[in-house]
Order: sequence, then structure tokens, then C-alpha cells
Amino acid sequence: MIRVENLHFAYNEQEVLRGIDLTLGEEVLALVGPNGSGKTTLAKHLNGLLKPEKGRVLVDGLDTREHTVAELSRKVGYVFQNPEHMFFEETVFNEVAFGPKNLGLDKREVEERVRWALKAVNLEGFEERAPYSLSGGEKQRLAIACVLAMRPKYLILDEPTTGLDLKAERSVVEVIKFLRKKGHGILLITHDMDLVLELAERVVLLNDGRNVFDGSVEEFFRLNVEEYGLERPELLVLAEKLGAGFVRSAEELVGRVGGDLSVLR
Ligand code: ADP
Repeated sequence: MIRVENLHFAYNEQEVLRGIDLTLGEEVLALVGPNGSGKTTLAKHLNGLLKPEKGRVLVDGLDTREHTVAELSRKVGYVFQNPEHMFFEETVFNEVAFGPKNLGLDKREVEERVRWALKAVNLEGFEERAPYSLSGGEKQRLAIACVLAMRPKYLILDEPTTGLDLKAERSVVEVIKFLRKKGHGILLITHDMDLVLELAERVVLLNDGRNVFDGSVEEFFRLNVEEYGLERPELLVLAEKLGAGFVRSAEELVGRVGGDLSVLR
């Protein structure tokens, strides 16, 4: 469990986190909010990139102030936005192997981890490709593989589907579902409310450095999310118009209103 307790943080005396409490367990937790509300600053506290000025962050009981980012990266993996800027090796294999090699693991263990991580993100067979030659969705999955090779329990995914086409987005969604099944805790930072509806088990809404909502997806979408610059999913708008209540997928909606599912295929 990651626990954030009364976290305060300021850049140049400008307070941007104003007393945040949060937990992340084995779940997909969506972290949402308007631009500048403090999502990235909060996320950077979970793997120790930033340290609390007041309050504390505990990762499975470890206080992040007492541990280095290198130590914490074994527990918390951070997949940054626009990961393509972070690739520097000549091949996909070496890119994924970089972290485990730095842990001082022997060659066999490194190889085993690379194969496992590439398989998890469905990039087997890409080992000898150059990272820059991959498509957007493949790069995103490579970035996830690099983090997975460190075998962290928790993963932070910062806008993992932004800028991807539908097919690439679907492949990243499948990876997230797979990782959740494998028992990872995932913090998903996103503006995409369709993704929240599809994947999240809980939502935390930040506004101006405070968490103004922490609860279920259904409760979250009862809020006036437009007030926070977020867009209600079309599926929910349609479900409401049809009087079908809260649904998580088109299949569920069709089931509720008694239509023919084959029209979706
Ligand atoms: P979000 O991820 O929700 O868009 P951020 O955590 O990136 O929010 O930013 C929160 C606030 O902190 C914003 O007002 C932003 O301008 C400011 N900020 C972010 N990073 C820095 C930095 N390195 N130096 C100074 N101010 C920053």
C-alpha cells in the first residue's frame, strides 16, 4: 500500500499541494483534475522524485524521505508522458535491459526480465529494433516494459494514451488490464474520461492542490465534472438519456435497454 498523509509541497514558496491524503493499493486509481491542479507533482512524490515538505509518503511502510529514488524504483515505476524522449539505447532489448543491469543483476536474470517485460506489453520480436523506429503505441508499451523490468509493485502512468490513435490506445488499455490482473497497483493520470469509465476502480480528483473527491467511478460521474474542465463520457450521456443509469461499457448499455448486441460488432 502507498500512503500519502497530509502532503504539502511548494515550488519557490508557491504551495501547489495543500494537504493531500491518498492511498494506492492493488487497484487502478485514476488521478484526474484540471491542468496545473498538482497531479504530476503528487505522482512524483510516490517514487521519491520529490520529497514532502510537510506530511509524509509511505511506500509499503518505507518513508520516501529515508530512501533514494533508485531504491524506491524497485517498488514504484513511473512511466512519464512522452516517453520517446527518454530512449537512448540502440535496440529495444538494450533499452529494457538498462534498468535491470543497473541493479547489478547477472546476465541471465537481465535477459529473463527483458523477455518477460516485452512479452507483458506484447512486444516480443521487437528486441533488435531501434526504439525511435517504433510507432507511438509501441513506444508507449516499450516505456512500460522498461519500468516493468524493474519488477515494481506499483506503476504510475502519466497520460499513457494521449496522442495515440485508436488501435494503439486499445493495445495500451489491454496492457493496463493485464497488469492489474497480475496484481499491480496502478495510478493512472489522465484527462480521458472514457478511459476512467473503462478502467478505473476509484477516482481521486485534484483541484488547486487539494483532493476534492475520492470515491467510486459511479459517484465521481455524479459530480459536475465539466466544472473541472473534464468531459462526461458520451456513453454516460447516452445512458442517462435512455434512463439506463450508470453503465461501464456499450455492451452493458445495450444489455440494459434490451437491444441487439450484434450491432456493436
Ligand atoms: P498537473 O499535473 O495537474 O497539470 P502539475 O503538478 O504539473 O499539475 O503543476 C502544479 C502547479 O505547479 C502548476 O501551477 C505548475 O505551474 C507548477 N509547477 C509544476 N512544476 C514546476 C516546477 N518545476 N517549478 C515551478 N512550478 C512548477
